[in-house]
Amino acid sequence: MIVTEAKSFVLVAAMITGFRRVLVAACAGCTAVCGVGGERQAGELADALRLHARLRGEVLDTEVRGVTRQCEPEFVAELAPAVARAEAVLTLGCGVGAQFLAEHYPGVPVLPGVNTRFAGGLAAPGVWEERCRLCGDCVLYLTGGVCPRTRCAKGIMNGPCGGAAGGLCEVGNATPCAWLLIWERLERLGRTGTLDEIGPPPDWSGAQAGPRRSGKGGGVE
Ligand code: SF4
Ligand code: SF4
Repeated sequence: MIVTEAKSFVLVAAMITGFRRVLVAACAGCTAVCGVGGERQAGELADALRLHARLRGEVLDTEVRGVTRQCEPEFVAELAPAVARAEAVLTLGCGVGAQFLAEHYPGVPVLPGVNTRFAGGLAAPGVWEERCRLCGDCVLYLTGGVCPRTRCAKGIMNGPCGGAAGGLCEVGNATPCAWLLIWERLERLGRTGTLDEIGPPPDWSGAQAGPRRSGKGGGVE
């Protein structure tokens, strides 16, 4: 899923300064799962922003509305009445949701309330870890289900680099060497032969020329 984190409150408060009616738009998708973009968080943020404004002698009215996903037009359209009442929209959807809102409602400023980090999963309670760089040319079938593009600090495709020590990557952060993980996993599966041939360089052609598309008809445009 798309992993997000809350933006600094000071920055969010600064972004909405000057707007008197702000719609705080929650998303029940990835950002809610990350604990930063659901309706509860939107309500808490709206309360804090109103209090902050009052302490500064400013006037701020907030409305909180949530949708199932901000990255789908039919859900985005549900916000129309609330957007019509607002001078600005503070979205707690990811960067995708924020852009869909901005495209659907060109007449109102759309401000991001969260930072969009990466595609990942829950590694430990409250800890999300990146697992995919969305390269569009998945090689997990060769690497035992461990992504070298994401989990190798150097993105090496025919590793290892030789710098690992004690099973850890030389780049740091106490990160296991991805290529050691790959080898151990393939060994357990009896499939180390998939590494016998030098693989081709990554095919980044699907990442060129603007936003990628995927859908009916298969493949990536
Ligand atoms: S808008 Fe972003 S956070 Fe919300 S469901 Fe879509 S991808 Fe996930
Ligand atoms: S190779 Fe890695 S970055 Fe590419 S699609 Fe597969 S998991 Fe994602």
